[in-house]
Amino acid sequence: MGDSAADGTNGTGRGTGLPAGDGTGRDTGLPAGDGTRAVRAGLPEPVKHEPTLPGPVFAAHFHLPGEPTGPYTYGRDENPTWTLLEQAIGELESPGQDVRTLVFASGMAAISAVLFSQLRAGDAVVLPDDGYQALPLARAQLEAFGVEVRTAPTGGDAQLDVLDGARLLWIESPSNPGLDVCDIRRLVEAAHARGALVAVDNTLATPLGQRPLELGADFSVASGTKQLTGHGDVLLGYVAGRDGEAMAGVRRWRKIVGAIPGPMEAWLAHRSIATLHLRVERQNASALALAEVLRGRPEVTGLRYPGLADDPSHAVASRQMRRFGCVVSFTLPTRVRAERFLDALRFVDDATSFGGVRSTAERRGRWGGDAVPEGFIRLSVGAEDPADLVADVLRALDESAR
Ligand SMILES: *Cc1c(COP(=O)(O)O)cnc(C)c1O
Repeated sequence: MGDSAADGTNGTGRGTGLPAGDGTGRDTGLPAGDGTRAVRAGLPEPVKHEPTLPGPVFAAHFHLPGEPTGPYTYGRDENPTWTLLEQAIGELESPGQDVRTLVFASGMAAISAVLFSQLRAGDAVVLPDDGYQALPLARAQLEAFGVEVRTAPTGGDAQLDVLDGARLLWIESPSNPGLDVCDIRRLVEAAHARGALVAVDNTLATPLGQRPLELGADFSVASGTKQLTGHGDVLLGYVAGRDGEAMAGVRRWRKIVGAIPGPMEAWLAHRSIATLHLRVERQNASALALAEVLRGRPEVTGLRYPGLADDPSHAVASRQMRRFGCVVSFTLPTRVRAERFLDALRFVDDATSFGGVRSTAERRGRWGGDAVPEGFIRLSVGAEDPADLVADVLRALDESAR
């Protein structure tokens, strides 16, 4: 097993033999909108008699006579199906820029790769205290390795107050499940002025909703399990970044831990990205429509959707987001009321996760990890007809009151 390219990461036009282009995967020289970019992302130059998206390459190792040079040597470090997917994600995260992207077996594998490759004993890291529910587990492990962990809420840019002396700032905006938003550019500037790196969890927004690297972040990290792939059938994660040295560290970590996606998962993810724009447009528009209807219901409190004009996050979100996501959160008066509501829904499955084409909702408090009220609901809007969804939710609210 050998190392390949010196910087070891797949950037736009790197490692694939493809030209660096305008983000459409081909150097057409034409500007491309999000829909065009999504359907073409990461596709190689057309070759007569070859498929548009080459099939998954199942290989633990590759033929390698003579000197063990890359690009493809051993399957824990390199795979051509990953290369195309990494190129696709890079083109969406930061069109036209030289971005390096690495795919992982899951979102948590990607998050852990950044945290554990960039932090050493004695370093300090700032995490959100209202972020993804596995972050406290990562916190305990970081502390066991001698890293100082500080936390602050996402809202109000409160992480600014605990930045001094930190090596890494971890942002999750919008946060899951509370949907708070912070001013990413402002936090990045403050962190960089103090010599800290910045990573943004871009899971909820997707690269079509927000481009953290363009807002100055060093890493855009996400779970591809959610809206990026959108069918609830694949676990995936990725890290995108511009800094070759930092990304080489992330890649080394992937190689040490081996948290790699299978070729089939990588291929399914790439295939799913072709419809990302369609799904995001539909799901996010329906999420806004549903939020507007929920706003008029007396039993609903704490309604959050960053796309609502009167949401506390709307002003900041409008400055840095291009689309506001497919998740709506709100609170019903009691746990029993929330459970009855979930039972009464017909087009919304009671399930965790979010971002899929089929709507899901859950009473988040059942997990015990998030600081949310007992009646707190996180609802992920799918690709069903918006009128059917709105009618279903209104009927379930009525039934839950009986
Ligand atoms: C789901 C999620 C993760 C973890 O992703 P997995 O693919 O489940 O490992 C990380 N961050 C956020 C915001 C998530 O929603």
